[in-house]
Amino acid sequence: MRLKKGDLFILIVIVLALISYFGIKTIYKDIENKAVVIYVDGIEYDRIYLNSIKEEQLIHIDLKNEKFIDINVSNDGVYVSDVICPDRICVKTGFINKVGQSIVCLPNKVQIYIEGGMRADVDGVSY
Ligand SMILES: [Zn+2]
Repeated sequence: MRLKKGDLFILIVIVLALISYFGIKTIYKDIENKAVVIYVDGIEYDRIYLNSIKEEQLIHIDLKNEKFIDINVSNDGVYVSDVICPDRICVKTGFINKVGQSIVCLPNKVQIYIEGGMRADVDGVSY
């Protein structure tokens, strides 16, 4: 049996589809493992896995002395949208979305990190 021109074309399409499928899967895995971790006063307050977020959510945290911090978390990353804070460096830091990046609000002792799969392995989470 000889391959016809049409058959070869279909074969190429299938191979390309497979390549792009696994390419997307690799990229997706990176998103899958990312987690936004929020520390208040050095204690872990919340941990949100980016792939579990369906739409942007606002995390409102009441702090000591009538202060608060508003953190917006979405599939893409995280930023501080509002805060009662003297220097507002946390708001000025803006949007972060890469593993290892952080937003720190020193006056309020709030730290926001983006953690990746590496950290999950350390914690003993297996996939
Ligand atoms: Zn701040």
